[in-house]
Amino acid sequence: MQIIFLGTGGSIPTRERGLSSLIIEYLNQLYLFDCGEGTLRQMMKYSTKNNKLNFMDIDNVFITHFHADHILGLGGLIHSMNFLERKKELNIYGGKGIKDVVEKILMVNSNNNQITLRNFKINIHQVSEGLIFEEEKFKIYSFKTLHTEESFGYVFEEKEKRKFIKEKALALGIPESRLYSELQRGKTINFKGKIITPDDVLSEPIKGRKVVYTGDTMPCENVIKFSQAQIF
Ligand SMILES: [Zn+2]
Repeated sequence: MQIIFLGTGGSIPTRERGLSSLIIEYLNQLYLFDCGEGTLRQMMKYSTKNNKLNFMDIDNVFITHFHADHILGLGGLIHSMNFLERKKELNIYGGKGIKDVVEKILMVNSNNNQITLRNFKINIHQVSEGLIFEEEKFKIYSFKTLHTEESFGYVFEEKEKRKFIKEKALALGIPESRLYSELQRGKTINFKGKIITPDDVLSEPIKGRKVVYTGDTMPCENVIKFSQAQIF
């Protein structure tokens, strides 16, 4: 996992600081949180030979709120994706009004929360508090923060995982084979008439890492609450 701060400035960019935007890179996918003006160029600037930040790899964008310094980069980002003939769908998440905002920025209308551009489609997801996104290894939740307009924070949380303990498997006489991956996936196996369960060879559950991102907020109890482990 990498966390890349593309912009940490407010209202007006400076020579040194872009406007709000952050990327969480996880298993070669890029998750973009807020998209202030200049986000696309910030990505290009911080992309290196060994650490490619390709904006075409963004499939999911999470917007905290609709103040200009958090959203004005969306238009350029999406137009560039379209210009380069992106085919994959793009998902944009945000609070009440996200549909209007994206429609206005792109000057197109949506149909059933979907915008069809020349080359690809955008799915618009209106969020409230709770689980909004789930993959095999992590989840994303949204929660309310305190600002002059409705504003959300996002929790990116890895799911619990259990490590495979090879020594335990070898001690049970199981040779290194595909049986290891079956046990790792939670399957009980029958090895030479002996029943082996995942509990026999896996570690105790290990808590996943958690990243909490907010846009603008006053001191807010929710940020503390949602940053603590095991909220959901
Ligand atoms: Zn704001």
